[in-house]
Amino acid sequence: MRPVVVCTHLDQIRPVVPRTPQGCEDCLALGMPWVHLRLCLTCGHVGCCDASPGRHARRHAHAAGHPIVQSFEAGEDWRWCFIDETYV
Ligand SMILES: [Zn+2]
Ligand SMILES: [Zn+2]
Repeated sequence: MRPVVVCTHLDQIRPVVPRTPQGCEDCLALGMPWVHLRLCLTCGHVGCCDASPGRHARRHAHAAGHPIVQSFEAGEDWRWCFIDETYV
């Protein structure tokens, strides 16, 4: 069994406003398609999921050092930490 991982980044969550509510900020700039969207809870960056070609949510998390995203899909409110690789 994997050990239980506890996310230590909850203090990086801010009251954010989605910067590009219409889609992935990076895909929009590059003209790329995406599958699902994730919202950075530190700065409001909207990025695409790991099933998308760009994986911009993950790239943003590591490039900007913003660990936690929330699903930006309708009806979903789960959160994921890219540093601890766990739901939070
Ligand atoms: Zn993207
Ligand atoms: Zn961010």
